[in-house]
Amino acid sequence: MNTSNDNLMAALMEQMGGNNNPKMEMLAKILAQQNNQPQNTAQPQPANGDKYKGQARKLMALNKELKDKLLLLKKQKEQLLQYLDYFIEVNAVFSSAVGACECWGDDPQCEKCRGQGKPGAFAIQQEAFQYYIRPALKQQQGPEKEQLAQPPSSPFKGAR
Ligand SMILES: [Zn+2]
Repeated sequence: MNTSNDNLMAALMEQMGGNNNPKMEMLAKILAQQNNQPQNTAQPQPANGDKYKGQARKLMALNKELKDKLLLLKKQKEQLLQYLDYFIEVNAVFSSAVGACECWGDDPQCEKCRGQGKPGAFAIQQEAFQYYIRPALKQQQGPEKEQLAQPPSSPFKGAR
């Protein structure tokens, strides 16, 4: 309640003839309505503004979080691609060390070997053989072991 307005109204009503003047009663009603209106209409706007500011802040924080996650995923992807490049190269060199195709003869659709590139199918690459196979053969010397290792399961087996 606005007390200064109420005091003003009381003073006005006294001057204009008190509560018996119908014009003064109407003026009093109008003033009373105007007194209430600004409080009702002005308050929701700042409240909404605060709400939107809060939402905007939350969205900006979420946006930053997502950007950070995206950056991390990009870094992880780069690292995985580096690993993949490395293992593709190791596979190429290692398969050449035993005269195998890079698909190890497991891929019937392989353009190089049509699924015929098991170890020994091609000429052995000597440097790769010295690096990968010779040390393993040295360790293997001695009483012959007749164990045959099970090859790892091939991703091409479903295609046969
Ligand atoms: Zn092949």
